[in-house]
Amino acid sequence: MRGASSSATPWHSREPDEVLAELAASEQGLSGEQVAERLARHGENRLPAPPRSGPLRRFLRQFHNVLIYVLLAAALGTALLQHWVDTGVILGVVVINAIVGFLQEGKAEQALEAIRGMLSPKALVLRDGQRRTVPAEQLVPGDLVFLQAGDRVPADLRLLRCHNLRLDEAMLTGESVAVDKQIDAVDADADLGDRRGMAFSGTLVAFGQGRGVVVGTGAATEIGRISTLLGEVETLTTPLLREIATFGRWLSGAIVVLAGMTFAFGYWGRHYDLLETFLAAVSLAVAAIPEGLPAIMTITLAIGVQRMAVRNAIIRRLPAVETLGSVTTICTDKTGTLTRNEMTVKTLLTAEESYEVSGVGYAPHGGIHHAGEEVALEQHPVLAEALRAILLCNDAELQRRDGGWHLEGDPTEGALVVAGLKAGLDAREVARHYPRDDVIPFESLYKFMVTLHHHHEGGQRLLFLKGAPERVLAVCDRERTRDGDRPLDRPRWEQRMDAIAARGQRLLAVALKPMDEERRTLAFPDVEAGGLTLVAVCGIIDPPREEAIAAVRQCQQAGIVVKMITGDHAVTARAIADELGIRTAGGVVPGHVLEPLSDGELEALVREVDVFARATPEHKLRLVRALQAGGQVVAMTGDGVNDAPALKRADVGVAMGIKGSEAAREAAAMVLADDNFASIAHAVEEGRTVYDNLRKAILYILPTSGGEALTIMAAVLLGMTLPLLPAQVLWVNMVTAVTLSLALAFEPAEPGVMRRRPRDPGAPILSGFLVWRAGFVSLLLLAGTFGHFLWMERQGVEIELARTVAINALVMGEIAYLFNSRYILEPAWNRAGLLGSRAVLFAVGGLVVLQALFTYSAPLQLLFGTAPLGVKEWASILAFGVILFALVELEKALFRRRGRGAPRV
Ligand code: ATP
Repeated sequence: MRGASSSATPWHSREPDEVLAELAASEQGLSGEQVAERLARHGENRLPAPPRSGPLRRFLRQFHNVLIYVLLAAALGTALLQHWVDTGVILGVVVINAIVGFLQEGKAEQALEAIRGMLSPKALVLRDGQRRTVPAEQLVPGDLVFLQAGDRVPADLRLLRCHNLRLDEAMLTGESVAVDKQIDAVDADADLGDRRGMAFSGTLVAFGQGRGVVVGTGAATEIGRISTLLGEVETLTTPLLREIATFGRWLSGAIVVLAGMTFAFGYWGRHYDLLETFLAAVSLAVAAIPEGLPAIMTITLAIGVQRMAVRNAIIRRLPAVETLGSVTTICTDKTGTLTRNEMTVKTLLTAEESYEVSGVGYAPHGGIHHAGEEVALEQHPVLAEALRAILLCNDAELQRRDGGWHLEGDPTEGALVVAGLKAGLDAREVARHYPRDDVIPFESLYKFMVTLHHHHEGGQRLLFLKGAPERVLAVCDRERTRDGDRPLDRPRWEQRMDAIAARGQRLLAVALKPMDEERRTLAFPDVEAGGLTLVAVCGIIDPPREEAIAAVRQCQQAGIVVKMITGDHAVTARAIADELGIRTAGGVVPGHVLEPLSDGELEALVREVDVFARATPEHKLRLVRALQAGGQVVAMTGDGVNDAPALKRADVGVAMGIKGSEAAREAAAMVLADDNFASIAHAVEEGRTVYDNLRKAILYILPTSGGEALTIMAAVLLGMTLPLLPAQVLWVNMVTAVTLSLALAFEPAEPGVMRRRPRDPGAPILSGFLVWRAGFVSLLLLAGTFGHFLWMERQGVEIELARTVAINALVMGEIAYLFNSRYILEPAWNRAGLLGSRAVLFAVGGLVVLQALFTYSAPLQLLFGTAPLGVKEWASILAFGVILFALVELEKALFRRRGRGAPRV
């Protein structure tokens, strides 16, 4: 099937009118009913989901892990010896672990999928004669779609109009050079790459603008036919997780060797019974292997990603979660990220007059005032001409919907439309009188927009230029006055513009030039040739976001430098930076100053300067490089198609979800759902928390495994009766490893998380401190377990009772240490530390029930050889828990004192 067409002639070899007729579409777009009917017929514009591995496969994958292999080998060994209880419990450990891993991984994947869904693309369409942004999935054959630089083409389109439209079709054709598009029909048998009149779904608009009619959606698109491209599924891993997985493999190897040595020592050195020694060695291995570790790492990561999404930071590449925690510099755009992007024209300057505009936002309430009086346009011809120009050189549309005013298009242009309405000019009406012939759309690279118009009654053809004042003034040699044109008084304009920019207003100049009557198209030389007349300059306010001011302060407290890289004027940039608390003491440097600098000079400059104005995407790329060369870990925001290289280069590229182009989003590691700077600060906080929680999980799991293993080794080395039977060790492992440590994945951020300095990205997670803490707590657990066992033995009680007391002491020690582990160095001896985590309290509650069953229920007593305890024993066990907790708190206090200020452990 060829898209919606049933006829044999392919779309690309038919003329646009013919295609529109065949699809029963018009230049006004489809109506609501047509869309509904076609959606029902053709289905949503979505590609079939890539095949996922079935649940059984995913469950079996949980066993694919060296740690588990060792455990399975141990189970086989005990089975051969017909020690069924041990076999059962080892398999229990393995299966429970796999179930937890399976369920949590499933949840994590679902969460990631939901997050990916939040990034689903949108399309700008014309329906019922109005422009509308709709989810790309809702497109149907016959829809009219607008394309502009940075968009991903949302469906297969037959192009109807093109303005310098160039598409990157590499994903379909493998050709990396962007292809020029046009609207003429080509041969029916032309190759995909030669079908110039088509824009294929999934390709990227590299440059220009265009409009096309949808001819194929979903599986009926060219990309839909190439199913192999769709298999891309991100794995749940990051460099850090891989590091830990490698560590896990080494650790298992070491443990197996250690268990072998223990066996050799016990059997040949102490002449124990072969069977007993083997079981001791097996339980040592099982106890020491941190089998819960991989699952907990993944879960912690997934929870972090989910929390970030709740706070509007959508992670596209998982490693960014870690990198965020070590970001030292955030380079951010100004407009829309630090400011509200609700633009209002406040000032209008003509050569002779200065006007104030009242009212805020997009509601056209207010008026234009001159010397305190509302003006009538007839008496202010230059103002009237300026407003007409800014309405014509404009693509925004203001719509009245649901009782409010909504803007479709660029906010800067929207503000101009509103200013026109305030003076009584309707953009549509003006456009009807001066139809547009051609356009060069705005790009932050050159910072202006140009349009060509003619009067509807013929004759007079005009070029309008609107853009950054320096760019516009550079090509003007005259200025418009009430009595005709006169030579441009540049110094005077600059002085007047600086005055309004210093109030934080962004500036936009507008100029015009008469053109030959036969001109139908525009090109850059038309502007570059100069000879334009400056008509007016607008001052537009865009107030800073309150939450951005707070977030900038928060980042600064967290040791992160916030730099503003804006396309705006230097004076405006300084005024806004001052309001936001971004440092301007180092000066405000315009982008062009960077150009002649060598890399070394630039590196020195970026250390001093925090505000860059009139910057282009290329400047951004150089700035990221210079910052990275100076050892900074950089997060960089961007929205346009040209920002993609800087976003890719940054350690964390951050794209805007609302105003960002598809190209920027795809290049970024993180997308802000609300375009708000504050969300970056939140993501950093969550990134730091995830890293903390990964460390906490490791800091918890290693000593608990270590304590169990040391207890067994000590018994064998000392030639004593085993204080813990293999099956009992396994029980402890089963009930603690997968319950207690899991609770740490849910830990909220520590209170001081945004008051410490960024983490050194080079520092290994498995630090000297970690080894110390693991050793220290392992020894405390050994002392408690072994101590209780000896104490019981000395009283001459039955061995079963002595062991049960030892086991419960071990579990109590692990519970106590879980509370310690909620904060790595901060004190846990307070209300928040003891009662602040529901997850911890639930895990402990569950464990108390399990231990009660283990100790008092007859079947488990039979299975594990346990005996009931009395009050005296429980009191002693509880005391041990309290002592262990206190000792670890003491250790933390000592470390805090040693590393006061910045505990780098
Ligand atoms: P930031 O880079 O911080 O988001 P910005 O949005 O002001 O700042 P650009 O969008 O590159 O940066 O705009 C730079 C300048 O180009 C503006 O100060 C303004 O003078 C001009 N400009 C912005 N939008 C338009 C537009 N739609 N048409 C013409 N000129 C524009």
